[in-house]
Amino acid sequence: DRPLAEVDPEIAAVLDAELGRQRDTLEMIASENFAPRAVLEAQGSVLTNKYAEGYPGKRYYGGCEHVDVAESLAISRVKELFGAEHANVQPHSGATANAAAMHALIRQGDGILGLELAHGGHLTHGMKINFSGRLYDVAAYGVDPQTFRIDMDVVRAKALEARPKLIIAGWSAYPRHLDFAAFRSIADEVGAHFMVDMAHFAGLVAAGLHPSPVPHADVVTSTVHKTLAGPRSGVILSREEFAKKIDSAVFPGQQGGPLMHVIAGKAVAFKLAAGEEFRDRQRRTLEGAQIIAERLTQPDVREAGVSVLTGGTDVHLVLVDLRESALDGQQAEDRLHAVDITVNRNAVPFDPRPPRVTSGLRIGTPALATRGFGAAEFTEVADVIAAALKPGFDADALRARVAKLTERFPLYPSTGAQVRA
Ligand code: PLP
Repeated sequence: DRPLAEVDPEIAAVLDAELGRQRDTLEMIASENFAPRAVLEAQGSVLTNKYAEGYPGKRYYGGCEHVDVAESLAISRVKELFGAEHANVQPHSGATANAAAMHALIRQGDGILGLELAHGGHLTHGMKINFSGRLYDVAAYGVDPQTFRIDMDVVRAKALEARPKLIIAGWSAYPRHLDFAAFRSIADEVGAHFMVDMAHFAGLVAAGLHPSPVPHADVVTSTVHKTLAGPRSGVILSREEFAKKIDSAVFPGQQGGPLMHVIAGKAVAFKLAAGEEFRDRQRRTLEGAQIIAERLTQPDVREAGVSVLTGGTDVHLVLVDLRESALDGQQAEDRLHAVDITVNRNAVPFDPRPPRVTSGLRIGTPALATRGFGAAEFTEVADVIAAALKPGFDADALRARVAKLTERFPLYPSTGAQVRA
């Protein structure tokens, strides 16, 4: 029963250093967030010891009476949160949720149609060397070369040409709402199932600040750790008619024992996501992204060749367009890193630069909104980012402005070492 610091000081040092990094820098990777202490407690718990293959009330192991309660709570809470008929909370990750959903809906060799990876789609929506590209016959739709938006007439034409068995909507890097009703009607027209991967925007949907895919899709998959701010993991929602297929695709189709400690963490996250504080945080997330988009379309940054794809955002992220800038994505990412702001470079659609460097940045606001940032703080962050992307940037001065913000919004203030207890 010895503590981590005693058993393994090297790993304890990693945890301490990472906590310090998260505290002292501005985390703006769009897919990241800070799980609340309550989620960390559930996840770092004795539930990790328990085998529970099967589902609540139908397990292949004894002693599941307590973990059954946790999983049943996670299921009922997420169904309520999104108005779904069925939920499976066992996927270990977003990728395994997608693998299981596809396994449930279609057969090997069937056609799938999703958003092009290079235009903001996800690996699991049909990348060649991913399971999705190897098992299924992939077709893709892209964004319009002028507007950088998804054009539903193009999606329809692609669907009519490829006749897929499954149409996938959802993205990892796209700043606008999707037209779920139009996707549904195209899927019906070509006789395809319709799946939405809402991994990125699920928190906004939960807060009622983004259209919900649930009424339109046969199956909705998500991660729980992005805008939802839960433990790193996945979830699948579906219509009742797919419930049995989804459950057996997850277990025993894709996975063995569920991670009960993570499922308990999901239950906590879904409870929090139904609350007013969560809603307020999603409002600030959206407001922050809009403030950053607005700042990065002002004349002073435009002069430096910096702009924003689609001219703005409807969601929690901004895609910075550096095609006209002297800085490539790698250099811009490095500049922000030098002033303690963490973002990731990201290829823009039709990117003229190689994928190693790219011509874009993806900047997200969920983690800072969780930290407590509101309009005033996001205005300051936006100005620091703008200054970092312009010529004559002064790293020391900008780092000092960042430090002021991180000091004013302490992360995990009361937990300290308990974050790794
Ligand atoms: N789906 C989308 C749209 C994503 O953006 C991601 C992660 O980036 C995933 C699925 C995969 O999630 P995970 O990393 O948990 O496998």
